Amino acid sequence: MTRVIYVNGRYRRYRDAFIHSEDRGFQFGDAVYEVLEVKDSFLVNEKHHIARLLRSLSELSITPPMSARALHNIMLETIRRNYLHNGSIYLQVSRGVGSRNFLFSEADLQPTVVCIARTIDPIHQKKASEIGIKVITHEEIRWARCDIKTVMLLPASLAKEKAKVSGAHEVWFVDDRGMVLEGGSSNAWIINHDNEVLTRQVDSSILYGITRLTLIDVLKKFNIQPKERAFGISEALQAKEAFITSSTSTVMPVVSINGHDIGEGCPGPVTLMLRNAFHSVAEISSN
Ligand code: PMP
Repeated sequence: MTRVIYVNGRYRRYRDAFIHSEDRGFQFGDAVYEVLEVKDSFLVNEKHHIARLLRSLSELSITPPMSARALHNIMLETIRRNYLHNGSIYLQVSRGVGSRNFLFSEADLQPTVVCIARTIDPIHQKKASEIGIKVITHEEIRWARCDIKTVMLLPASLAKEKAKVSGAHEVWFVDDRGMVLEGGSSNAWIINHDNEVLTRQVDSSILYGITRLTLIDVLKKFNIQPKERAFGISEALQAKEAFITSSTSTVMPVVSINGHDIGEGCPGPVTLMLRNAFHSVAEISSN
């Protein structure tokens, strides 16, 4: 349960954790964020997440509100005050509060910083990984800078809601040539019949997933060289295995795409091996 939320220098009770109505994150989606896994009260892959946050801020010309060390301390204090063991930390930085105006460069805005801790039940996660998840594909309806992790998540939210209505757990966005881009909140992977482990190359169409990055190291540990290239829906449907990666699900098997079973219709052995090895390779922050 989330008890305390950090907002602009103060740790507030959940019900009192407000931001201003003219925050640009609220009015323009003018904010970036990170979601970090918390395992045994430690942050996973913190350095990579903070580096990506700083990159997102820089792409939007938002001045970093504080040092990486200060952000680290806020995340740890939020973990501590919420007695969080396993779950996630949500860190959001908006451009700040200013009277509503499309233009921002001449306003002297102070970024708004919010940090929220959330519990994830590891038993529930483990059960989900044993069953695997279903995915549906969806036309790309997002913007051209998906490499920036902004809070403009309405397209992903609508598409994921569609997935849920159809009994699936995730959506895979597909470009106008039928090539898979990434999940609504995850990166997409398949293992094809030549035993190639494939995930789309990164550019401005997808997010540079931190779990994706770590998984490339996990694969190397097993002497598997992943291929970073686009794959189409038909190649995905014929795959031996499929899975998604994200900080909150690590490696989650995909057992069905658009109602078609992948492989045997159950989590694949390589996927589960990668999932089990994940935390031995991921960076775990010290306190
Ligand atoms: N793509 C999108 C669109 C996402 O929202 C996420 C989740 N943040 C990912 C990929 C996976 O990124 P990460 O492994 O850094 O959580």
